[in-house]
Amino acid sequence: MTTWNEKKLREFDQKHVWHPCSQMQDYEAYPAIPIVRGEGVWLYTAGGRKILDAISSWWVNLLGHGHPEIKKQIVDQLNKLEHVIFANYTHEPAVRLSKYLTSLFSGKLTKVFFTDNGSSAVEAAIKMAFQYWINRGKPEKNRFAYVRGAYHGETLGALALGDLDLYKKMFQTLLHQSICIEGPDCYRCPWGLSRDRCDAECFTNTRMILEQHHRSLASVIIEPVLQAAAGMRMYSPIFLKKLRKACDELEIKLIADEIATGFGRTGKMMASDHVAMIPDLVTLSKGLTGGFLPLAAVLAKEEIFQAFYGPYTDLKAFMHSHSYTGNPLACRAACAVWELLQQEGFWPRIVGKGQLIADQVQDLNSHPQVGEIRSLGMVTAIELVADRQSRKSFDWKKRIGYRIYRTAEQNGVLLRNLGDIIYFFPPLVIEEPEIVFMTQTAKNAIFEILSQESS
Ligand SMILES: *Cc1c(COP(=O)(O)O)cnc(C)c1O
Repeated sequence: MTTWNEKKLREFDQKHVWHPCSQMQDYEAYPAIPIVRGEGVWLYTAGGRKILDAISSWWVNLLGHGHPEIKKQIVDQLNKLEHVIFANYTHEPAVRLSKYLTSLFSGKLTKVFFTDNGSSAVEAAIKMAFQYWINRGKPEKNRFAYVRGAYHGETLGALALGDLDLYKKMFQTLLHQSICIEGPDCYRCPWGLSRDRCDAECFTNTRMILEQHHRSLASVIIEPVLQAAAGMRMYSPIFLKKLRKACDELEIKLIADEIATGFGRTGKMMASDHVAMIPDLVTLSKGLTGGFLPLAAVLAKEEIFQAFYGPYTDLKAFMHSHSYTGNPLACRAACAVWELLQQEGFWPRIVGKGQLIADQVQDLNSHPQVGEIRSLGMVTAIELVADRQSRKSFDWKKRIGYRIYRTAEQNGVLLRNLGDIIYFFPPLVIEEPEIVFMTQTAKNAIFEILSQESS
């Protein structure tokens, strides 16, 4: 294969590629940037620039680009077996990974079902919860609930359990009927409380809706502690604790979607660990393979698995599959990531780095258009508002966040905004000088764009 230069890449990209989650007309002003190499937190462009990946390439990259140990294990696996059908066949990377993953959640989730991306894991978890109640003789429990601000992916089943109009509204008529319950909205808390000191008083409303509908509810799905796509919203883990208790009392299965939050992002291995919450089903993806290869998994409690277990002729089996289920290369990458995460000294360093990121942006707090700066583990978000007092958002058509993203990018930091929320979600291996560069560049871009607004 010959190497195409930057000009050629740009030309044919513009001609033939339809990029995800993009208004392609935006690419006239900002053509897609060809990346030729990655190392650590850095992406190297075909044009010879380097850009710091402050959002872990859509939250997948955990331990840096081109990590030598992960690369080595994938290459070793490539020399043995690239893929094999996963029905009736198995292989060491998948078995070893299953053993590792079932040690999470105090060992209470004993079974692993593989899929190949986050949305497909959510689909599998939804179908499991649905069929579970049929197999248990309660087919009337066939609906799902999600919380305000939820995001669980964009395939139709998962999209029905999301609450973000940007992705959902267009497709509303295609979606299965589900129930949106009040969730924690801490920046604009209707109770006027603060997430660090509250007792998740807002759960009162959540509980009421669950009580009202529990007879028809199969399951509730939630992103533990951090609602990432909603704008890095963070809430008290007490909410989760109360949700777990309510689900137990009302016979509702609880799905924790740890796709974005898993593997150290929030400062704990899993976000559910903040309250030692044990869900019935868990979805994992993104950081699972360190961002090297697509892979996802659903972890299930033994009791759920048992509801599907029996003679073939009972027709209770879970008849769900994806062609690339349990891909050996991806599983091997995930094993390598797991082993790296077990290394001593890793976790204390994350706490220090997360704190440094938060500290670096604290001076923004006095800015009249900075509504809130929130931090959890390695995630820090800055919510920009038109008016700090009323917490009123900017007119979305101004695209404030987007302009900040583009400005910072010119200066060497990739910060893809979520509306008017600018956030840091870097690979966990980011070093201190890189943190300083990342936050300083972001602040400069924020000041620059906001000053254009006020003048
Ligand atoms: C990204 C994400 C998904 C979807 O994963 P994909 O691999 O993009 O399909 C689902 N849930 C959460 C919480 C996510 O952040």
